Amino acid sequence: MTSISQLDREQKQEEKFQILTKIIPNDLKLKEEQFFELFLKNKGNPLTKLKLIYSFMDQIFKPIYKMTPCKKGCSDCCRIPVSISAIEIDYIKSLTNLKPKKLIKSNKNTVSTPCPLLKNGVCSIYEYRPFVCRQFITLYDTAEFCHPSLIYNECLLFGFTEIQKAYNYLIKNTSNYEIRDVFS
Ligand code: SF4
Repeated sequence: MTSISQLDREQKQEEKFQILTKIIPNDLKLKEEQFFELFLKNKGNPLTKLKLIYSFMDQIFKPIYKMTPCKKGCSDCCRIPVSISAIEIDYIKSLTNLKPKKLIKSNKNTVSTPCPLLKNGVCSIYEYRPFVCRQFITLYDTAEFCHPSLIYNECLLFGFTEIQKAYNYLIKNTSNYEIRDVFS
């Protein structure tokens, strides 16, 4: 069995990233470059600001998703740990009937345990899913490499600098949890 070095993986991910960035329309690239500035001008509450981030992610990821099997109903990556901030928990709470458990932080190994929000193989809160779930991308034609044992080598977190900056700014004073500790 050939093992792929960290360097090879990073190179592979960089190549994938370059392919994907080329298909994003220029107007969206420009908007992304100015996104943090736009975000800072928003005077809404944290949930409104999170919505602003998510709606822009929906726009910029649309052409990317078209080139991948990543979509509602494809759920192999829903078996890996999922970090969720207190603001994202409030956002889900405000838009669904879900009631979070008492918030605690645990160090339990969650690999291979499906996310509790995965119902019959479909994300039950897809429109409101956490930030990290929106970024997980595979470039293979199928999800065959999205098994928890392979996913860290074969999939990438597809991040955008200014979107990430806005998200980090938004959650900077909040706590993060593992989604399995929050919902059941
Ligand atoms: S929130 Fe939805 S997309 Fe994210 S891991 Fe859970 S089921 Fe999957």
